[in-house]
Amino acid sequence: MPTRLAGSPRLLVALVGLALTLGSGIIAQTAQNKAVLSSGQSQSQGNDDDFARQVHQWTTRPDFISPLVDHLPKVAGVPSPKDVLGHHIGEPNKLTYYADILTYYRALAAKSPRVKVETIGKSNEGRDLVVVFVGSDESIRNLEQYRGYLAQLADPRGLSEEQAKAIVAKAKPLYHLSGGLHSGEVGPSEMLMELAYRLATEDSPIVDGIRDNVIVSITPVADPDGRDRNVDWYYKYGIHETEGHPTGAGVPYWGKYVFHDDNRDINYSQVEMRALLDWYLQWHPPIMHDLHQAQTLLYTFSGQAPQNPNLDPILFGELPMMANFEMAEMAKYGMPGVWTHGYVDMWSPGYLAFMSSNHNGMIRMYEIQGTSGANTTKLHLGNPNAPAGRDGRGGAPAPDAAAVTAGRSNQAQREWFRPWPATGDFDWSLRDNTNYGETGVLIALQYTSRFSNVILDNFYVKSRNSVETGRKETVAGYVIPAGQRDMTRVERVVNLLRMQGIEVGRATAELKLKEGDFPAGSFVIKRDQPYSRLAKILLEKQVYPDPTLRTYDDASWTMGLMSHVEVKEIDDKSVLDAAVTPLKEKAITIAGTMTGAGPIVAVAHYGSNNMIALRYRLKDLKVQAAEKDFKQGNVTFPAGSFLVSGGTAKVKSAVEALGLTAVAMSALPSVPMHDLDLPRVAVYSTWGSTQDVGWVRYAFDQFEVPYDLIYKDRVRQGDLKSAYDVIVIPNQAGTAKRLVFDIESRGTPIAYKKSDQFKNLGMYGESDDITGGMGIEGVHEFDKFVRAGGVLVTLGTASYFPSEFGLAPKVDAARTSAQFYSPGAIIDAEILHPENPIFYGYDQKTIAVRYGSGPLLTVQTDSDPFAGAGAPPPTPPGVLMRYPGGDDHVLSGLMRGANEIRNKAAIVDEPNGKGQVILFAGNPCYRWQNFGEFNMLFNTVLNYNDIKIEAPKPAAPTSVPQ
Ligand SMILES: [Zn+2]
Repeated sequence: MPTRLAGSPRLLVALVGLALTLGSGIIAQTAQNKAVLSSGQSQSQGNDDDFARQVHQWTTRPDFISPLVDHLPKVAGVPSPKDVLGHHIGEPNKLTYYADILTYYRALAAKSPRVKVETIGKSNEGRDLVVVFVGSDESIRNLEQYRGYLAQLADPRGLSEEQAKAIVAKAKPLYHLSGGLHSGEVGPSEMLMELAYRLATEDSPIVDGIRDNVIVSITPVADPDGRDRNVDWYYKYGIHETEGHPTGAGVPYWGKYVFHDDNRDINYSQVEMRALLDWYLQWHPPIMHDLHQAQTLLYTFSGQAPQNPNLDPILFGELPMMANFEMAEMAKYGMPGVWTHGYVDMWSPGYLAFMSSNHNGMIRMYEIQGTSGANTTKLHLGNPNAPAGRDGRGGAPAPDAAAVTAGRSNQAQREWFRPWPATGDFDWSLRDNTNYGETGVLIALQYTSRFSNVILDNFYVKSRNSVETGRKETVAGYVIPAGQRDMTRVERVVNLLRMQGIEVGRATAELKLKEGDFPAGSFVIKRDQPYSRLAKILLEKQVYPDPTLRTYDDASWTMGLMSHVEVKEIDDKSVLDAAVTPLKEKAITIAGTMTGAGPIVAVAHYGSNNMIALRYRLKDLKVQAAEKDFKQGNVTFPAGSFLVSGGTAKVKSAVEALGLTAVAMSALPSVPMHDLDLPRVAVYSTWGSTQDVGWVRYAFDQFEVPYDLIYKDRVRQGDLKSAYDVIVIPNQAGTAKRLVFDIESRGTPIAYKKSDQFKNLGMYGESDDITGGMGIEGVHEFDKFVRAGGVLVTLGTASYFPSEFGLAPKVDAARTSAQFYSPGAIIDAEILHPENPIFYGYDQKTIAVRYGSGPLLTVQTDSDPFAGAGAPPPTPPGVLMRYPGGDDHVLSGLMRGANEIRNKAAIVDEPNGKGQVILFAGNPCYRWQNFGEFNMLFNTVLNYNDIKIEAPKPAAPTSVPQ
């Protein structure tokens, strides 16, 4: 137990505070809060009367508050949120901008020895990313020492059992809380300020216990850019909404690139998420608790099925213990509507706070009932006797017709995991949201303070088990062989593993294992390491545990398959003893090579995504693509390889920096080739569905592809062909109709524009009215663009558009049946025209692709009168790639009904006038994940005016009927 001596300065502060407030009605307040006092609040501490009165007013029902949060200490010299912000937390119609949130925490830290603010990075738009620590004076003074203890427990190799127990006895759990990951879920970021103040100042048995035994760390707003845009939007539109008259449109952007997907960013592409991961690996909080705002009235996650069986069973015991404690305590406080178990599952490792359970800690999550911004809104909770129906996402049997129809579960229904649902109609305020969230978190912290040794011991044992399990289990490690054709994708996979703290070594000599021989320099991931479970989760093929259950997000993510990198699973235990040089650096760079001499440089196209970056870095040089393979010295250059004329020194430095393989030579080889003209590229975005567009923007930005982001206004302006050669319509909107008509117009224009008052709006695009969509007028302009020679590229669900609106009249786009279920399986796709430039760099006819919910594409063929009866219809020449379909071609994850996609087109090239439409049924640029597919999109852009379709083959004479 930590010493309590550190409490004496605090007592002094409290006494001073009491003395200062005695004259202002504290006695009356104390009497009024008699029940509160019995539940824990100190009698010796002065309270803020104004707070109690206002919070009482803002709380819409007496049972929507607990004695933990109905009062707030007043401590002289330590600023409460109101002292800095001018209002108490939870005031109706008040939301706080991020800069003010930071100002508050920094003011608090300046005046309290129990609070410390650490800056951990910058957001995409340049805002400071911070972590706020709150604990006893002693904890904050000795933070570094406590960090050291947790680091030892996180990697207990070399510790004896006794040494580990000794560390457990003197360590303190770090409990990390995070708000504002989803910018529209505004409440928790307000609440956390009050929580920090309360934890720093309140004298009560519960808070004293927390302060002494737990160190709390806080991410005030996980996506601060999105926060400010949402607050702007709220003050511009949301605040004027009344019941039955919503604006009808949300703010078009949260973060720079993505909305909710910042919680699906499995490879930590976004700087905000990466900064938190880097911080995590320094501090090792055993618990990360992510605060969201969606369910009624408070949902506390307990890790339900489908569960990833690689995770330690201890975790699946800890999670419901804490959730049930919260549910029971809140019921004791008389607060209805708290439930657990029935929402989200424990399958995908890609959620942000999973960084904790992925690293032997514990992910926790709340969904707290939200409001519309900070407005008090009327909730109409369904009839408790209505059919139950689960949410249908996460653990629910699938397909669940009731849930699909209802769109969500009936949360007014009593269930074994929801013993006291909230029912009926009532008002719900921002303060109600604060009361629920803060009460829940205080209970969770109370539990942590009471069982701090258990939590720390579990953290230690889970870490130790992870090392030992790796030694005992069948899978002893993974090898990523050196000498793969494209080492840039190998480099990426290795770096993504390193980013997550996974140990990777390079074999110092050739490895001879049961699974084969691997050259020296191969990358070895041994499973006797603290993050061996995570390595397995990321690298193995996902075997979905129960095909009758739905999952909340993706069913598969296998890194090797997603990246088209060879990763060998190793059972041979001798891999654990393989001699390796551990990678010390966080990221490796595999340099490219250029040999030979001469004015022409051939750069091999081995499928690297860096090829497009190279083309743009050499934009002033003449670059051609070889249409057939050729040899130069001992290097075979496959079709698609670049031939660069002149600028050899510049080419060399770019090739080396980008990890590519090149040979300089005296003259061009004698192979057919075409110029790689640089296209003028636009990316089209609706206003109502910008997220998947954001992922394509992110990939284009990373690989240095310049483009214009265009919206309906530009399309309607017309004459697209004079400005662009290629227009990409990323996956978005779900249906063609939505893509065309987008956000419904309700008569009043809704502007997304920057102004002096709203500086965060109008970013990434602006419009006087984001409603109405491009309309038929826009369809006509796209049609004119294609007919005039433009190349229109549609990805995923956007591929319904050219089919259903006549831009690709011979292509049909159907939908899978209601029984079909495939949350992001990885499956086979068969390349039918390997010579087509879209497939430059691929050396296999069958490749792994992610299957989303894109259309089932077929191309109508003119019936062949000479074909014999029963002869299979010829595959139309425009079908460039197709799905073989069937269970045998599911490589990882879950696809129920895999026969439905049998022989459906995966990529179609459909000529129209002088131009063409290239439809991808899948999404070759899915999040920051399927790197093996990105290259098909990049090839399409680079070779846009050289993608030709073979003429249909004449019917064979033998088929002439007699
Ligand atoms: Zn959320």
